[in-house]
Amino acid sequence: MSASTRIPVIAQPFVSERAKKTLDLVEEFVEKECIPAEAVFSAQLGEGEKRWQTTPAVMEELKAKAKKLGLWNMFLAKSHFKEGAGYSNVEYGLMAEILGKSKVASEATNNAAPDTGNMEVLAKYGNEAQKKEWLAPLLEGKIRSAFLMTEPDVASSDATNIELEIRREGNEYVLNGSKWWSSGAGDPRCKVYLVMGKSDPKNTDTYRQQSVVLCPADAPGVTVHRMLHVYGYDDAPHGHGHITFKNVRLPLSSMVLGEGRGFEIIQGRLGPGRIHHAMRTIGAAEKALEWMIARVNDERKKTFGKALSSHGVILEWIAKSRIEVDAARLIVLNAAIKIDQGDAKAALKEIAEAKVLVPQSALAIIDRAVQAYGAAGVCQDTPLAYMWAGIRTLRIADGPDEVHLQQMGRRENESRKKEVIAKLKWQQQESDRLLIASGFKAKSHL
Ligand SMILES: Cc1cc2nc3c(=O)[nH]c(=O)nc-3n(C[C@H](O)[C@H](O)[C@H](O)COP(=O)(O)OP(=O)(O)OC[C@H]3O[C@@H](n4cnc5c(N)ncnc54)[C@H](O)[C@@H]3O)c2cc1C
Repeated sequence: MSASTRIPVIAQPFVSERAKKTLDLVEEFVEKECIPAEAVFSAQLGEGEKRWQTTPAVMEELKAKAKKLGLWNMFLAKSHFKEGAGYSNVEYGLMAEILGKSKVASEATNNAAPDTGNMEVLAKYGNEAQKKEWLAPLLEGKIRSAFLMTEPDVASSDATNIELEIRREGNEYVLNGSKWWSSGAGDPRCKVYLVMGKSDPKNTDTYRQQSVVLCPADAPGVTVHRMLHVYGYDDAPHGHGHITFKNVRLPLSSMVLGEGRGFEIIQGRLGPGRIHHAMRTIGAAEKALEWMIARVNDERKKTFGKALSSHGVILEWIAKSRIEVDAARLIVLNAAIKIDQGDAKAALKEIAEAKVLVPQSALAIIDRAVQAYGAAGVCQDTPLAYMWAGIRTLRIADGPDEVHLQQMGRRENESRKKEVIAKLKWQQQESDRLLIASGFKAKSHL
């Protein structure tokens, strides 16, 4: 059954014939080219310091194949950007799910974070010179980029805390401060950082203090101190950098959109791209289920004389996982459809639902698959341990669950309380009226 025949019924009216063809091509490319190439990618990366200086040749080969197949920049939705491949968010959502089954597929098709979000920023807010210098090579997959917001010394889930100083001096900006979790900064091809800092810390409007500037990765005064590990994985060559800025001087032309507009940019950056991780995570969950099914039917590995799939509890794991993947997919596609019909702002609720629910469901599914493998599940012999580590971070990265839940809870409460209270009050009164009219005593005092 090809991917285009598995599109959920609810999403079918929103998927064009062209997108269906591409979806099947994506599946073929991921399953037959990308997943088998992952071992070569790891082998070419090698060990030790070399991992940060190497661009595995197999990646460039995959990129050339993907380009030839027309599988390139599908993430830039046609309703919001002219630079992309011309698909909607829901169409890309289905493709991204499949890309999420392989750790090399997103980059091979130039749909990898954080470049995707950064390209969205440059396409939406960059001026012509900035687009020419940075967006054009990013769209071609010639360079990579990083987005630097989080800082080691402040609670960064509240972005008003960000402290890096962007001070104007004559016709230059001078940057001082530190950043960490700068994903992608380890890659030798990472040439530009989008840096968020404070250009006007005394502004009484706390949402107008921040700006975003474009900083070449090799600017004097920039030091990449170390790469942070995720549960022991270094994620090379991409990496998560801890970087300091000491009197880094940038021309005024480095400012994106304008001084004091940093918040606007980070909110815009997390527009359609906000659910790309969730889209890919559905693929990871689906892959975990595939691996689980393979293990529980392994004839060589029976327990108490039976294949694992003969034990009721295991069938329940499979069934629960199927329900959870399918439900999570519907939540993601619903958010994508809502974005397509308006914009990300109109879909805040749907986006938050996807961002919170999908990683939690996927983690539960991957955990069951790990359990089904026994000790093999926690080591490097299956993709499960690495997938679990990566997806666990999504409950923190790009805003912790609690922040999304708090905002969502507040909006739900505010938007509904008046109407709900009024309705329930009316129903009580009406119920009393009907009781009295029928010769009974009113009950609203209960
Ligand atoms: C793998 C990975 C990649 C990342 N990539 C990038 C990147 O490329 N660029 C970048 O700038 N950053 C990146 N980050 C950082 C990420 O965006 C931050 O970690 C995240 O925003 C949380 O900020 P913090 O770590 O400072 O946690 P804090 O802000 O200190 O929060 C700590 C905890 O407090 C709790 N909390 C926060 N707010 C509330 C609330 N309102 N109610 C209840 N509890 C709350 C949450 O449980 C939260 O996890 C990455 C992180 C990871 C793990």
